[in-house]
Amino acid sequence: MPGRGDDAGLDALGARVSAARDAVQARGETFYQGPSGVHLASFPPPERWDNWVELDSRAWPARKERRYLLVPTTCFNCESACGLLAYVDAGTGQVRKFEGNPEHPGSRGRNCAKGPATINQVTDPDRILYPLRRSGRRGSGKWERISWDEALDSLAARIRRAIAEARQNEIMVHIGRPGEDGFTERVLASWGVDGHNSHTNVCSSGGRTGYQFWMGADRPSPDHANAKVIYLISAHLESGHYFNPHAQRITQARENGAKVIVLDTRLSNTATHADYWLSPQPGSEAAINLAVAQHLIATRRYDREFVRSWWNWAEYLRACHPGRPVTFEAFEDVLSTLYSGFSFEYASAESGIDAGVLAEVAETVAGAGTRFSAHVWRSAAAGNLGGWQVARTLFLISALLGAVATEGGTFPNGLNKFVPRPIHTPPHPGVWQDLTWPLEYPLAQNEMSFLLPHFLAEGRGRLDTYFIRVYNPVWTNPDGLSWMEVLTDEAKVGCFVALTPTWNESAYFADYVLPMGHGPERHDTHSYEQYDGQWIGFRQPVLRAARERLGESITDSRQVNPGEVWEENEFWIELSWRIDPDGSLGIRQYHESRARPGEKLTVDEYYGWMFANSVPGLPERAAAGGLAPLQWMRRYGAFEICKGNGAAHDQPVPAAELDDVAITDTGRVYTAAPKPPCSNIVPTGAPEPDCAGRRPVGVDVDGTVRRGFPTPSGRLEFWSSTLAEWGWPEHALPGYIKSHVHPGNLEPGQLVLLSTFRLPTQIHTRSANAKWLDELAHTNPVWIHPRDARQLGIACTGDLVRVETEIGYFVARAWITEGIRPGVVACSHHMGRWRLPDQPRGAGGLMATVDLRRGDDGWTMERRAPVAPYASGDPDSQRIWWSDTGVHQNLTFPVHPDPVSGMHCWHQAVRVRPAEPADQHGDIAVDTARAREVYLQWLELTRPAGSRSPGGLRRPTWLMRPLKPARELFRVPAQTWPAP
Ligand code: SF4
Repeated sequence: MPGRGDDAGLDALGARVSAARDAVQARGETFYQGPSGVHLASFPPPERWDNWVELDSRAWPARKERRYLLVPTTCFNCESACGLLAYVDAGTGQVRKFEGNPEHPGSRGRNCAKGPATINQVTDPDRILYPLRRSGRRGSGKWERISWDEALDSLAARIRRAIAEARQNEIMVHIGRPGEDGFTERVLASWGVDGHNSHTNVCSSGGRTGYQFWMGADRPSPDHANAKVIYLISAHLESGHYFNPHAQRITQARENGAKVIVLDTRLSNTATHADYWLSPQPGSEAAINLAVAQHLIATRRYDREFVRSWWNWAEYLRACHPGRPVTFEAFEDVLSTLYSGFSFEYASAESGIDAGVLAEVAETVAGAGTRFSAHVWRSAAAGNLGGWQVARTLFLISALLGAVATEGGTFPNGLNKFVPRPIHTPPHPGVWQDLTWPLEYPLAQNEMSFLLPHFLAEGRGRLDTYFIRVYNPVWTNPDGLSWMEVLTDEAKVGCFVALTPTWNESAYFADYVLPMGHGPERHDTHSYEQYDGQWIGFRQPVLRAARERLGESITDSRQVNPGEVWEENEFWIELSWRIDPDGSLGIRQYHESRARPGEKLTVDEYYGWMFANSVPGLPERAAAGGLAPLQWMRRYGAFEICKGNGAAHDQPVPAAELDDVAITDTGRVYTAAPKPPCSNIVPTGAPEPDCAGRRPVGVDVDGTVRRGFPTPSGRLEFWSSTLAEWGWPEHALPGYIKSHVHPGNLEPGQLVLLSTFRLPTQIHTRSANAKWLDELAHTNPVWIHPRDARQLGIACTGDLVRVETEIGYFVARAWITEGIRPGVVACSHHMGRWRLPDQPRGAGGLMATVDLRRGDDGWTMERRAPVAPYASGDPDSQRIWWSDTGVHQNLTFPVHPDPVSGMHCWHQAVRVRPAEPADQHGDIAVDTARAREVYLQWLELTRPAGSRSPGGLRRPTWLMRPLKPARELFRVPAQTWPAP
């Protein structure tokens, strides 16, 4: 079926429709044109979104027409932020279904199964509808309904007291899926609190670190659609980062003849679509990348001019080869030997992939030229000690080919993402949170979130008020029972608040559970790098937008949401207002209306100001349609700011921006000229001014000042001065770090467990409240190769196996398959959801009831009752036909913090054997004392910041930090933990 933009296709379709109509009429019958008069169109045209008519499928065969208002919003079921279109029934005023928004530039009308399943989450009979406060001990399952006023006043009083008593570091907001760009950080900055915590170090820090040290941007933005060769270390066609927007562009490229290379130890759905599927030994991916890179170097099939112009080779030669002349030829001489050990034979021995296949892959890559797009995000970068070098070696291939910010190449994310300025910008907080940014991890890409239980247990601090939002730390993190131990200890966590639409394993242990809206019930803005362009998307409460279109005035999302479900924006504004009711703490000013001084900011004013003042081109586009910018975004849901930005690093800096210029010996150029008004495509430059206060503006390339990259040198950093100076000189170049699960580090009989892969139809824990998705995917068997199964005495698929980790074991069913390497087992994410017997039902289709006990030897979990049909407001809950909901394997994993990136290294060295006679599916045993020992072993690997750190700093100032404290807080304090 053609898309809206496919005029030729529409003409042909129109001709076929006309012919069909003529044939029907020739028979003397009535031709049914289609309810909206648009016969077989792919998408409802926007001009009909006020009155779209469809036949009611439930009334079939009667042709009963239903009228809809179509209202855009954004899916909140993964980080891709695809556009959705809510079909709001004009008769009932309720949402009937969600489909794709054809006006969204990233997703272009397409969604995965989780997008339309948003309707299940909205109508979920188990969702939380009212604010609750616990009325028994934590986790007892006893709750009382309270008003929003009671919750707000109580929390505001606690936070106000903590701030007044200079206990800012006792306030923390822990975010799982952010789903927005900067609102929450802005709220915390307004409180003067360094309390932002994230999930990123159990997710993507490994990948981000590798990219950050190369290009100063922590994410790749591949232009897959125009690539000739696509190289994926991920399951990108089914579940990778931004997978639907990327997958459709990869598919487009394949239609044009692109070759796809997939490194994935499992036979994923992505691997099945690859031209080359490589199933490497886990942890060997960087060795494969380096063998490909070595082939490009040895055959001199790299882009010499790009490397000469844009790599910091001169800085590298000066630092590491002081006896050599600083010439490109001398560098090439060094480069020719640097990776000579990474032959195809070596990579073959490490990875288990045939050397001939690796040679063929390297030749394919060499033929791509600048049309080589590549991506790694979680996968190997998140699995292994040193996984960040997987990303760094992958980008080495791009950088050798010159496939950086080219058509069909890979861009720094900053060029393809746009974050607008908000109406108020509070200053940087005046405190530093050691619980999230400890001295041991000065280069950590993000907060050391998953070590929080250990830090609290060893007395590094306490939390007075701890919020979780779109986050389930007990379930999501490794070592979840250590989380439970601290979250149930009121001396360590004074008040635990869960902001959530649904029950989860962590919320059960909270003091307050406050119901927040799903994607179609809240406001957010977001922009993600999904192609060579920039867009901004607008999530909105769809019933509010629908009723406003009909002339009603809505001032609070609770007026349209079910029960007393609120949205976070309004909640945070209201809470901030109550923390500082008279403005004396200096907080209130950042939540006040500009238009009506002294009054509270509304979401309409917040987003209205943003769209009118800081999104280039949007006011003009809206005016052309006779709309205000906010109205335009409420109408269409997303706006494309620009596309085809090209190589911004290569742009010359205009003379007007060059004043009192200083140039370092690495070619970094600083200027005294003020910054020009914000441009949406110019890289920011390295963030730190020079000692004279000049700002970095670009880099000298053959006598011309060009924009460059936001790294310290302004160039792509083949050699990282930051890694060298901060204690890791041996890893300053792209290289290969042998993983903690390298065969040489395994004991006899141990296998490698891959535990991180997603299923295409589930996402972490919220999708459990979507019945369609639960029916599609509800269990996580352990993938075992037939050879291993034979050796281990596992006879059949479905047999129970015990998987023993460093701190315990879990019991699951075996799936014997050749879709996994021998010596490796795999178990998917998402499953094994649970609740205790007295706790409210959280997700009837996916959460089993368990008994959890703590004894002298640690914890045990046993399944008391599987999921089963139950009575609810939704008749489908009586039709649950499955009972197997998998096992919560993460509970049995200790923490493995990478000493450089801070990423939790997810792969596990395990033993697998047939289950004991008394074992039951889902059983778990965990020794949290042993978990602490493993944490201490990994802590030993770190090289902490201290008084001898460069500049006496805790952390390089140029590295990213979601919420940056004031500059002076970066200095290592005199009294620290641990003593420097
Ligand atoms: S990929 Fe699927 S889950 Fe993710 S935002 Fe798009 S539709 Fe939603």
